[in-house]
Amino acid sequence: MNDAPVKYSSIYLHFPFCESKCHYCDFYSLGREKTGTGDPDLFEKALLQEIGIRGERGEFADKIETIFLGGGTPSMTPPESMERIFNTLFRKTSLDPGYEWTMEANPSSITRDRFKAYRNLGINRVSMGVQSLRSDHLLKLGRVHDENEALRALESVFESGFTNVSTDLLCGVPGQTLADLESHIQGLTAFPLTHLSIYLLTLTPGHPMYRDLPEENEQLDHLAFIHEKMTALGFEHYEISNFAKPGHRARHNLVYWSGGSYLGLGPSAHSFSKSARIRFRNPNSLHRWATPLLESSGRLPVEEREELTPEQLDLEKWMLAIRLEEGFPREWLDSESRRKKVEILVREGLLEPHPRLGDRLRATPRGFALSDALVRELS
Ligand code: SF4
Repeated sequence: MNDAPVKYSSIYLHFPFCESKCHYCDFYSLGREKTGTGDPDLFEKALLQEIGIRGERGEFADKIETIFLGGGTPSMTPPESMERIFNTLFRKTSLDPGYEWTMEANPSSITRDRFKAYRNLGINRVSMGVQSLRSDHLLKLGRVHDENEALRALESVFESGFTNVSTDLLCGVPGQTLADLESHIQGLTAFPLTHLSIYLLTLTPGHPMYRDLPEENEQLDHLAFIHEKMTALGFEHYEISNFAKPGHRARHNLVYWSGGSYLGLGPSAHSFSKSARIRFRNPNSLHRWATPLLESSGRLPVEEREELTPEQLDLEKWMLAIRLEEGFPREWLDSESRRKKVEILVREGLLEPHPRLGDRLRATPRGFALSDALVRELS
């Protein structure tokens, strides 16, 4: 299958380095203890090659609409290195006038001057991994910042001129109470945030903290509480884990959630071509990803490539629709059994007719929290 004709206008770049590895993290990232001294240079060189090859293949759309720098901790990358990376990209493409360019950042790597330099490059949105404003919980999670550092970092981001700023919080942390969540939300929304992502902490059964995770009912209460608080503060609960001020939904992530095409660059990055119905992925290893690129053979380091079957596409369609506030159109209820299931789910308070979009149904806040069960029922 040849994906060369696909032109991507949404680009993800994975920066694999972190200060240290958090205890719950399953993203591909290397803490300082695992990072070799030459690795950041090797990463930059290989990334420049990957961008160059993708550019030669004509895979960048004329206008890029969204860029997302994820990781890892992209904000550990010096602005000069970022500049070299994006100079290479913009040799082959340019930014759409209404672009969104997000950088993930962690509090410990934020300084005002560094963020000014990122802004001068064109980055116009920051997503900061705060996770908690309780220093003991942060320590337990293996984060390297504490509450004060998180608040100081947020201040620096705003002082450096960013106005479109999101933060991440974790809920379901062992020992976390509703009062904690309330004070975290208060503490963060004292800043003019445009967006907040709140993820449920998930751990594998073998993890030392797994036994301490809250029971499902407590999790549901916490998620309901978060929904109430955030919507009362004027945020739209537009996706299971995401809240935005009107006009500030995360556009890059909406590409993922609406089944759009995106190109991932860097180790472990995933890509999806909607027209070719192909998903592909780079290796989860800095060296396995970089080696073919540095051989200058023109070979791309794609490790897995999967053409989606009609059944997978149908499952994805339901998974994505259940995640989003817009829900799904009634015309998807194409069998008597699906219509019956939906009636039951509405009675159980997990689905509801969309209040503004008459021909659609959507998950309720409780349905968001139980979305896996909803998808199992409907797909
Ligand atoms: S900072 Fe983020 S990417 Fe890095 S180890 Fe922690 S959770 Fe993972």
